[in-house]
Amino acid sequence: MIGFNVPPFTGKEFEYMQEAVASRKISGDGKFTRYCSDWMAQRFQVKHVLLTTSCTHALEMAAHLAGVKEGDEVILPSYTFCSTADAFVQRGATLVFVDIDPRTMNIDETLIEDAITDRTRAILPVHYAGVACEMDTIMDIARRHHLQVVEDAAQGVDAYYKGRALGTIGDFGCYSFHETKNFSMGEGGALVFQSDESKEAAEILREKGTNRSKFFRGQIDKYTWVNYGSSYLPSDLNAAYLWAQLELADAIDADRMETYEFYHKELKDLADQGCIEQPFVPDYAAHNAHMYYIKLADEPTRAALIRYLKERGISTVFHYVPLHSAPAGQRFGRFHGEDRFTTKESERLLRLPMYYGLRPEDRARVVEEIHSFFRQ
Ligand SMILES: *Cc1c(COP(=O)(O)O)cnc(C)c1O
Repeated sequence: MIGFNVPPFTGKEFEYMQEAVASRKISGDGKFTRYCSDWMAQRFQVKHVLLTTSCTHALEMAAHLAGVKEGDEVILPSYTFCSTADAFVQRGATLVFVDIDPRTMNIDETLIEDAITDRTRAILPVHYAGVACEMDTIMDIARRHHLQVVEDAAQGVDAYYKGRALGTIGDFGCYSFHETKNFSMGEGGALVFQSDESKEAAEILREKGTNRSKFFRGQIDKYTWVNYGSSYLPSDLNAAYLWAQLELADAIDADRMETYEFYHKELKDLADQGCIEQPFVPDYAAHNAHMYYIKLADEPTRAALIRYLKERGISTVFHYVPLHSAPAGQRFGRFHGEDRFTTKESERLLRLPMYYGLRPEDRARVVEEIHSFFRQ
């Protein structure tokens, strides 16, 4: 059986979690949380990193900090995970979906400006598969119209746009460390941002509305409830698990990239014959091999291939029923312009097994079976 995903495990996780337990500090903001945050701040060149309990929660924090409120509109792709939308629905915002660029499956930046109204508050680019959206254009539109940009970089940890880490370009960036992502802590995420102005508000929001972070730094002698907040900080046990991977991030990246390049090379003949389409990475993007997908001719062909591979012990998945066609998407949003690609492309896309430690003989078998499907 070749699974679609196996959570990353490098070998040091138990040791670090044990260390956290022994230190009698298993709640949030302990030693391992600091290691992880400092590492990200350094590597991604971002001033503020707050580890969170999920990317969904990082998005909730971003929506709050961006000042999104009842009646505002936010512009996002319909081809994304529901969390991108949930965080803004929670604030009472209306979702305005625009079409994607079929080559990257990312929001088509040339359609954004037309969707702006006097209620628009934020643009939410989602870096699908860790391939960057066209951020210069998006930031330019945002600055001209005084909009906030919240990057859903759940899949884009350690991926880059013109040399800048995804998540660090907009006003706020949100990462995921769910077990299906490149680096994991089971459930978890991070909120990253550059502005010093948001720092205190973000810390308060994350710590139940208290100024406990300031207290821990010794800046005040007792802490108190100062504003609305929630509990968005993860246990240091989870951070200990994550640290074991961040330490070996280069090895994880290289391993995933090898699988990506293998699929890309070995399936090229099928693309040349017109059986499949392969992912496209624009010159401005350095991706992180978060996923490898192919596109089939249509939905029935995809269903047939999934069944064929499943019978041979290979698990493949597809995702995202476009949000605008889901019941909640219809309730909370509208599609601006024409759905030329969102639905059509989402029905053709198939993700192949991709995880740290996927064995060479297993990925070779995936490629073989896909070839044999098209031979029959
Ligand atoms: C995984 C994912 C999320 C949610 O991440 P969690 O950490 O599970 O909350 C949000 N957006 C996108 C695009 C994702 O892929």
